[in-house]
Amino acid sequence: MAGALERLREHLAEITDLRTAAAVLSWDQQTHMPPGGASRRAEVLSTLSGLIHAKFTSDETARLLDAAEPEVQGLPEDHDDRCLVRIVWRDYERERKLPTDFVAAWARDRAISVQVWRQARPANDFASFLPYLDKMAGYARRAADFYGYREHPYDALLDGYEPGMTAADVRRIFDELRPQQVALVQAIAARPAPRTNFLHRDYPPEMQGQFGLRVAADFGYDLQRGRLDLAPHPFATSFGRDDVRITTRYDRTYLPEGIFAVFHETGHALYEQNVAPALARTPLARGCSNVWHESQSRLWENIVGRSRPFWRRYFPLLRQHFPAQLGDVTADEFYAAVNRVTPSLIRTEADEVTYNLHIMLRFELELGLMEGVIRPAELPELWNSKMQEYLGVTPPDDRDGVMQDIHWSQGSFGYFPTYALGNVMAAQVWEAVQKTYPDIEDQIGRGEFGMLLGWLREHIYQHGRKFLPQELAVRATGRPLEAGPYLAYLRRKFGELYGL
Ligand code: ZN
Repeated sequence: MAGALERLREHLAEITDLRTAAAVLSWDQQTHMPPGGASRRAEVLSTLSGLIHAKFTSDETARLLDAAEPEVQGLPEDHDDRCLVRIVWRDYERERKLPTDFVAAWARDRAISVQVWRQARPANDFASFLPYLDKMAGYARRAADFYGYREHPYDALLDGYEPGMTAADVRRIFDELRPQQVALVQAIAARPAPRTNFLHRDYPPEMQGQFGLRVAADFGYDLQRGRLDLAPHPFATSFGRDDVRITTRYDRTYLPEGIFAVFHETGHALYEQNVAPALARTPLARGCSNVWHESQSRLWENIVGRSRPFWRRYFPLLRQHFPAQLGDVTADEFYAAVNRVTPSLIRTEADEVTYNLHIMLRFELELGLMEGVIRPAELPELWNSKMQEYLGVTPPDDRDGVMQDIHWSQGSFGYFPTYALGNVMAAQVWEAVQKTYPDIEDQIGRGEFGMLLGWLREHIYQHGRKFLPQELAVRATGRPLEAGPYLAYLRRKFGELYGL
């Protein structure tokens, strides 16, 4: 019967098509658009996002959801249509909570704030950025009030990136990770560092790209339904499962940057390419949440792509691409080099052991800002003292300290924890994979990724956004997110690498 559900699906398909159109324009903006196109493109994207917001938050959406509700009530809880109505109701209620004039004012001020940050950061000029940072924190705080929360205003913001997760959940996991990760960093610092000089030789970008794409294809990235382009900040984007694109950038004199960015974005792309076809043109046709998405990019980048079996298999191939540059290097030396642990100032360059500490610092500062116990003017000093406490380094200036990330200039508070929790989820998923395939590392050592991709497709990818993040964790791994598997993974891998 072509009933209410059918009409709801048509309505959502139109909204999804508009979102896809916006995503294509945004991909083009970051990969091919000439600089002169910027302001015209901003107008088009702003018009589109206004249309999408208006259409999605319209009374029509609520009417259609209401009408479809009885049609899905009798269906099993994990039926596509029942999940669709439930998740779209949740999205709808959240999006309706922000008044339209508030959203528009925030978007306007955000554009200015990002521009100020782009100029202030290279000039190391925190003072000129401060009023905008103050404004953005204010918007986030007011948004939390509009959304509503039970315990902490931060919960309302976090819910936008990781539905259902609270600041207390994050704090519990971080409190378990922090002392152990700090201790591990200190123990490693007392050990000799591996040789890394060969990573800084001359590596022509086109050869880096060839190698990266070969590995991406071996992982299972379907290039008939994907492509790789250059962008200043690597990302992956989906226009539906049959057109999922990745981007990277290459540093000619530092090999790991470009190839691991390809592995990382390939992880995101594998997720999107393997969402069930039945979910196409619905809001469920993408990854479950930020944590889930990042868990898959980190799994392919780090747990697979920075493992010893992987490099024993792929180092000979890499050396074929760079015979002169890597002629005096062994697979094990290369493995040790790309896993070197060293406290750094910049989050995006951090290794697996120090990365989460960068995030914990930001989380604590964000909590304080939202509670009103930290004022934005105090951030540079607090930032530097926490860097010293967690990582043993103090930034020489605000450019590489408090101003290094774009997120706060956009008012994106509540986003950072999802990066760290993605690492944690990746390890928990890996533990579950190993239960099914105890020989998974041998498979990787043979360059065979089909079983792994099949497991991930069956337990995670095909479901798209049908379930809330913690529900998916229980379905895929048997329990909610925990710190344990990640700590065990770090201790085993880096204990062996550094002889601890
Ligand atoms: Zn990512």
